[in-house]
Amino acid sequence: MSSHARWSTCRLLMAGLAAVVGLGGGASRAEVAAGPLIGIKVYDPVPDTAALFRDWKRLGIDTAFISTALAESGTFVPAARQAGIRTFVITPVFFNPEYLAAHPDAWAITGRGAKAKDDWVEFVCPSHEAYRQERARYVLSLLERRRPDGLSIDFIRHFVFWEMVRPDGRIDPLDTTCFCPRCLARFENDAGVVMPVAAKASPRAAAEWLLGQQSEKWTRWRAGLITSWVEEVVREARRVAPGVKINLHLVPWGDSDYENGSIRVVGQDVRALAPLADFVSPMCYAHMLHRDPAWVGRVTRELAAHVAVPVLPSIEVKESYRKEPLTKEFFAAALEAALAPPSAGVVFWSWPPLSEDAAKQEIVARRAR
Ligand SMILES: [Zn+2]
Repeated sequence: MSSHARWSTCRLLMAGLAAVVGLGGGASRAEVAAGPLIGIKVYDPVPDTAALFRDWKRLGIDTAFISTALAESGTFVPAARQAGIRTFVITPVFFNPEYLAAHPDAWAITGRGAKAKDDWVEFVCPSHEAYRQERARYVLSLLERRRPDGLSIDFIRHFVFWEMVRPDGRIDPLDTTCFCPRCLARFENDAGVVMPVAAKASPRAAAEWLLGQQSEKWTRWRAGLITSWVEEVVREARRVAPGVKINLHLVPWGDSDYENGSIRVVGQDVRALAPLADFVSPMCYAHMLHRDPAWVGRVTRELAAHVAVPVLPSIEVKESYRKEPLTKEFFAAALEAALAPPSAGVVFWSWPPLSEDAAKQEIVARRAR
């Protein structure tokens, strides 16, 4: 069966399931039939959800990736379920400007001794135990209270403003994180490494010593901070909400990008993370990153070769961080690349620009038909 036909069949099955799910009450899940998952990210309150879901049905969109604010509204998740739309709540982890404003001791620190801040990107130290626990408790309580179908774990990584890194860019190790005293002590303890006193005199001294003398242990340990948070939260999530689906947002870098930047900089060890999840979703924002649309397919294929779970590339609808428009031709080509095997679907980022663009909606609707 072609993917077009599968998608249409999926729509028909969903229409039937929506009625069943609607009768099932608040705790049931919006079961979506097999076929590509067609998702969309939406962050802000939507005044008329009935109209929204009608639009999404027309476009073949079956899954909403919603902000915590939208989930906390209390009305969106049940309304989506009633309409046969599956919901994942996007839960940011180590990006948290509000927390940092109230807890200045919690900043991640770069090898230059600077706070992990670049424009709007502000990161908490990933070994700050009180924060790790508080964030885990919040995500789990949200899951228990709002009962979405899934969690879409975002900013589950170390600090970097990756949206700004060009294909030929380079990331200085001194700009990576976190070299705060809390991390150094935890690293010494966990990795069984004793750092010379001089290497602990400053973040720069620590970074130079760690990256020079213990780079493999350091890199593995700091990726472990990311993996272990996911491990603990996912285990608890599956206990409090059996059947919950877990998606992980990934920085769209392969092994050959930025000297293995996905681990060395970002700290996302996909081979360790993927087995904990039901989906992985690389943010394939090709236009933003000065890549061609076909690059979306290359990232998806490379990732799929390393993981056993479905890969859901996320693609942008409109230009960001640059003036050149993201044309409908670029969008159509990126969508084709995103849906090509072995992809398990696509997640559009985001609804407002798609809602305002009839031509791009037509491209999505045509793909759905
Ligand atoms: Zn730290």
